[in-house]
Amino acid sequence: MTDNLFDRALERLDEAARFLNVDADVIEKLKYPQETTKARLVVRMDDGSRRSFLAWRCRYDDTRGPTKGGIRYHPDASAEEAETLAFWMTFKCAVMNLPYGGGKGAVKVDPRKLSKAELERLSRSYMQAFARVIGPERDIPAPDVYTNAMIMGWMADEYNKIVDRNEPGVITGKPIALGGSLGRNDATARGGFYLVRHLAKDLNLDGPARVVIQGFGNAGQYMAELMAGDGHKIIAVSDSEGAVYDENGLDVTALIKAKNAGQRVSAFAAENGLKAISGDELLEIESDVLVPAALEDMIHRHNADKIKTRVIVELANGPITPEADEILNKKGIVVLPDILANAGGVTVSYFEWVQNRQGYAWDLEEIHARLLKIVEREGRAIWNIAQKNKTSVRTAAYVHALARLAEAIEAHGTQDFFADY
Ligand code: GLU
Repeated sequence: MTDNLFDRALERLDEAARFLNVDADVIEKLKYPQETTKARLVVRMDDGSRRSFLAWRCRYDDTRGPTKGGIRYHPDASAEEAETLAFWMTFKCAVMNLPYGGGKGAVKVDPRKLSKAELERLSRSYMQAFARVIGPERDIPAPDVYTNAMIMGWMADEYNKIVDRNEPGVITGKPIALGGSLGRNDATARGGFYLVRHLAKDLNLDGPARVVIQGFGNAGQYMAELMAGDGHKIIAVSDSEGAVYDENGLDVTALIKAKNAGQRVSAFAAENGLKAISGDELLEIESDVLVPAALEDMIHRHNADKIKTRVIVELANGPITPEADEILNKKGIVVLPDILANAGGVTVSYFEWVQNRQGYAWDLEEIHARLLKIVEREGRAIWNIAQKNKTSVRTAAYVHALARLAEAIEAHGTQDFFADY
């Protein structure tokens, strides 16, 4: 078993290929990123000094359309991580049948240590460095970990200056006033929520569920709100510094308000006389639904066995290692995998791009109805593949996506087609 994030991601490709009769060319094409650009962003800091930050943009595969995927700001970002996330985006877009390939970008930076003005200069400098590889018909970024609508707005503005025209379709997740779409802010959580609701009977989740959420950023907060609104009980929530637990159910509105005012969840626990626990302890709480909504590799071979839940909904990308996956499978825990469960985000990004190209804005009901239809259609298809092949839902999702990717790659000709008999 390899410790390399990218190699571990490729294991999922091999696993899916066992269930399909795909041409060897397909695997050869999908085994490597198509193009990864690296740059050093030099940014003027508020004190007058200049600091440089490493940055990447990976376009993994564009056979099915322009590459699509977020930009992450994180101190642990690396080329390998960006390429792995871009590989996942390739499969995620194929799962939802969006006319996109996969991409991802990153800056190695702790954005919490920058002032707002420094953050703006960094974001504009990212677009200056990568404008040549990005474009509405080439590669379309969006928010990811520690990036948001305002950052997308700065980047779109910078791109518009470079090309000297207004191209709202160059980036998604923009502020509504700058061509963003209604419903993009909660789309990642909403997609996961629709999926759980649709599969509730199959997952034996009739009735109110006890829900634990790891990570309380965009996806985690909206998931808490949507699940609580549907009658479920949010019993524990964590952020990067600790967790809060209340078996009677947390007040989600108060928690979100405190978090957005800069309070940590452990401080919220102390202030409200609730139980503060560690992030590790959170994973061991008995629940019906566990939602990893933070970063990759949070559930691994050392803690997977301690998890006491029935269904895991991966709102984060890659939160479970392949070894942990096996342990969870054996325990009978059903995992709704990232490339399906968190694909609502990129799906509404796609709607934003379509609206930008049409020059016409849809109302929120239309966004929700279209998202629901796609989540239910692809979720059901994947569930059926899992039942038919007796595999995990993850393997089924990869099989479903690989079939679409293979069809597109094979449409350019297969080994049999070109062989000289
Ligand atoms: N960063 C999100 C993801 O990992 C959204 C990507 C997008 O909207 O393009 O799916």
